[in-house]
Amino acid sequence: MKVTEHIESKNGKTQFSFEILPPLKGRNIQSVFDSIDPLMEFKPPFIDVTYHREEYVYKEMENGLLQKKIVRKRPGTVGICAAIQNKYKVDAIPHVLCGGFTKEDTENFLIDLDFLGIDNVMALRGDAVKSEVYFKPEKDGHCYAEGLVDQVIQLNKGKYLDGETLNQSKTDFCVGVAGYPEKHMEAPSLNSDINYLKRKIEKGASYIVTQLFFDNAKFFEFVAACRKSGITVPIIPGLKPISTKKQLNILPHRFHVDLPEALTKEILKCKDNKAVRQVGVEWCIEQSKELIENETPFLHYYSMGKSDNIKQVASNLF
Ligand code: FAD
Repeated sequence: MKVTEHIESKNGKTQFSFEILPPLKGRNIQSVFDSIDPLMEFKPPFIDVTYHREEYVYKEMENGLLQKKIVRKRPGTVGICAAIQNKYKVDAIPHVLCGGFTKEDTENFLIDLDFLGIDNVMALRGDAVKSEVYFKPEKDGHCYAEGLVDQVIQLNKGKYLDGETLNQSKTDFCVGVAGYPEKHMEAPSLNSDINYLKRKIEKGASYIVTQLFFDNAKFFEFVAACRKSGITVPIIPGLKPISTKKQLNILPHRFHVDLPEALTKEILKCKDNKAVRQVGVEWCIEQSKELIENETPFLHYYSMGKSDNIKQVASNLF
């Protein structure tokens, strides 16, 4: 079922969903199930599975020179989506990236997803590979998520890249895109970012999932600005309970978000990470409650492979 249909089916009642990461190469699927199992009691209609592009690593050869190698540390997005749909009978939503994909790779990827019975995709540009400063698309790839959304929608109309394929069965993907309440790190302003977000919707995306944030006021301002710009699709907030002191520095650096003074102060007072976890859970519960009061269609939690604190949050809400 499409995310938009899940939203319509509940008449404004807030639902629970979450995102997982594929495990590091070499670990088995049980580690994925172990992170999902504790959260199934909250009846998520869908689970997102992130996609992780290639990275460059340098390996020392016998002659002492360094060899540049391409590795993917977290493969398995498609297989995990298939396993989720098969085991839990809920929708799995694979993240699909521009980065590392030619348009033809994308088309073939989407065909695989369609054959697996996947109804939704989250269309994202992806970041630059770790050793590079700026995002570089493949030679025949998309520069921005907007182009990727357009490709999915064209496929939904039965339009394949070769222009000749006889299409007996069109795909029918519902497309989600990313939004940034505190603006995307490369955007010169929030307004500029929202204008490009609007273009993704005009290309055919049906819903928005936001970057994580810790200050609801920023989310509400973002939603108001989106609505003012003419964006009418559902906007799903992304949430993560903070769980270690280190994250005070990691999260702003990695996700370009601010942590509210009150949260930072509480965390700095904590003696250990057990106490930090509790502060993080309580903050996230308060954030979630306020979002539910404001008729948010879904609360989407970034589990990052760890479900215990998300379970603690969800038990208070769903
Ligand atoms: P875009 O929408 O393409 O925007 C990128 C930047 O370009 C923005 O600054 C925007 O303002 C600007 N822009 C957009 N269109 C244009 C245009 N036509 N001309 C000029 N400028 C333009 N990353 C992963 O690698 N794997 C994942 O699974 C993943 N999942 C994510 C899930 C969510 C909910 C979110 C919020 C992010 C996720 N990311 C993931 C991170 C994401 O890939 C990065 O934030 C990336 O840098 C931007 O992706 P985007 O789709 O928002 O890009």
